[in-house]
Amino acid sequence: MPTDDGNFEQSLRPPGFEDFHGQEKITERLILMVEAAKKRDDVLEHILLSGPPGLGKTTLSNIIATVAGSNMHTTSGPQIEKAADLAGILTNLQRGDVLFIDEVHRLHPSVEEYLYPAMEDYRLDIIIDSGPSARSIQLNLPKFTLVAATTRSGMLTAPLRSRFGLINRLSYYSAKELIVIINRSAKLLKVEIDQEGAHAIGTRSRGTPRIANNLLRWVRDYAQVRAKGNITGAVATAALEMIDIDDDGLDEMDKRILETTIYKFNGGPVGLSSLAVALGEDASTLEEVHEPFLIMQGFMKRTPRGRVILPIAYEKVGAPMPKKAQEDLF
Ligand code: ADP
Repeated sequence: MPTDDGNFEQSLRPPGFEDFHGQEKITERLILMVEAAKKRDDVLEHILLSGPPGLGKTTLSNIIATVAGSNMHTTSGPQIEKAADLAGILTNLQRGDVLFIDEVHRLHPSVEEYLYPAMEDYRLDIIIDSGPSARSIQLNLPKFTLVAATTRSGMLTAPLRSRFGLINRLSYYSAKELIVIINRSAKLLKVEIDQEGAHAIGTRSRGTPRIANNLLRWVRDYAQVRAKGNITGAVATAALEMIDIDDDGLDEMDKRILETTIYKFNGGPVGLSSLAVALGEDASTLEEVHEPFLIMQGFMKRTPRGRVILPIAYEKVGAPMPKKAQEDLF
């Protein structure tokens, strides 16, 4: 599959709410919030956006900043290594600016503590020096809006979570919504695509706009070389088969996860870390990127004892379902 390239993503990123398709409840709330803040001539409250990668968290943050007429500063949890890094970022803000922190669940706990008063009272307590000469100085900050994104909202601490005025959980997109997004992207990429072509890509995009755009880019390349540049249903299907994406949108890794759980662990239950070792994949990537789609599609489930394969996965892999697994279902 083609890898992400910054410019490509940037060029397809919707600049305003009107081009951001899907997640209606969330966009409606955000539009209202921005309007209310503007009416009061006030600064927007802090916003948390959670959900799997590629669903539009960064895009929404950009749109919020644009619509509110603010500057956006971007950073991420792991980039802020110590309190001084955070102080540097916060003291650079101006009133009304949007600070976007991606992967906020990966903020270091000691940094997070500095964020609480900054979010609540727009103040920063800095300890300078150490030992007996240690003293705290207080800095007042301009009123700003923190827009934080996370793929793991469950890992957020309660004090941090409670400091957001609005918490939004983005959900996977339907194939219908993805088709609209694919048609828009095709227009921007100046490539002809028919309904069947958009449908073939939309149904294999795992409910994720980023994947839809990446697949579209691959299919466009394929169409240019093999099919006079036009994307039809047959062209899209052939192009996606070439990169081993099947009719359900499962890729090589998904199939390996199902096969490994079935053949090496008798269909589960298997713990995440054992599965990760057997696959040679990072456990959190497995949990955040691959599993949610497999679970959503009913191929596997998480239980207190570990991951368990469900009947349609046996069918998909072409493996007989063990008696034990059949009994476990009842
Ligand atoms: P996240 O921050 O959640 O990982 P991004 O905001 O970076 O996701 O979105 C990934 C890409 O998907 C963006 O480049 C954008 O073009 C596209 N995208 C995401 N959501 C939408 C949407 N609702 N409508 C159109 N395109 C979208």
